[in-house]
Amino acid sequence: MRKPFVAGNWKMNLDLVRARELVAGIRGGLGTDADCRRVDVAVCPPSVYLFPVANELVGSGIALGAQDVYPEPKGAFTGEVSAEMIKDAGAQYVIIGHSERRHTIGHLEDDRMINLKVKAAGAAGLTPILCVGETIGERKRGQTLEVLTFQLVAGMTGVSAEIAERIVIAYEPVWAIGTGEVATPDQAQEAHAHLRGELRKLVGDQADQTRIQYGGSVKPDNAADLFGQPDVDGGLIGGASLKADDFVAIISAALATVQR
Ligand code: PEP
Repeated sequence: MRKPFVAGNWKMNLDLVRARELVAGIRGGLGTDADCRRVDVAVCPPSVYLFPVANELVGSGIALGAQDVYPEPKGAFTGEVSAEMIKDAGAQYVIIGHSERRHTIGHLEDDRMINLKVKAAGAAGLTPILCVGETIGERKRGQTLEVLTFQLVAGMTGVSAEIAERIVIAYEPVWAIGTGEVATPDQAQEAHAHLRGELRKLVGDQADQTRIQYGGSVKPDNAADLFGQPDVDGGLIGGASLKADDFVAIISAALATVQR
């Protein structure tokens, strides 16, 4: 039985005051940390807020994640942050290969760089959340499963068994991220089952334990149907993770899948 995992990707949003209010709201909404024992929960603030948010999370059972990492341990990489620095700040997770980094930001990230980041994060003891997903053009051309295989294999190349034991995969169709357009539960299940099958070729039976999150316009009103799919193990949540009530409702939807 895989433990569902719900993570909030705050992207480049909030200021420190609002970040603290959001954590307080989530803590208040969850009530006790009991919910966090049956569902793993994390929030991923901008890197400058990792330290203060870590302080707000103490004793909550909610984990901390970063939104990106640089693969080198130190050196002349102005503006970048290493895996050890992220760990020092109190984070346990790091999102890697998010579609905005693959397709929108700056020099655009390729699968080779994503693979280096996965290995560096894993070697530092962080849990990588490796994001994969097709564009709308790739879906329309019938290339979805092929793209997912390519990104998964490229991201996992050379990853040790020890890292493979804890890595989390996030299926995030690019066309569903921040658009309000969500994959149907059947589309999500098809992609997740495919990813698990491909993962099995890479890591054997470990694939049955690996959490595969769905991400892309998850909201309180669609979370239950998505999380109810057999291979969907929670979600990576963008916009809805910025509202405490919505994020807590999405966590509750994940919780309902383990209470059945
Ligand atoms: C994301 O940022 O990973 C994401 C899924 O965003 P949204 O939920 O806003 O679509």
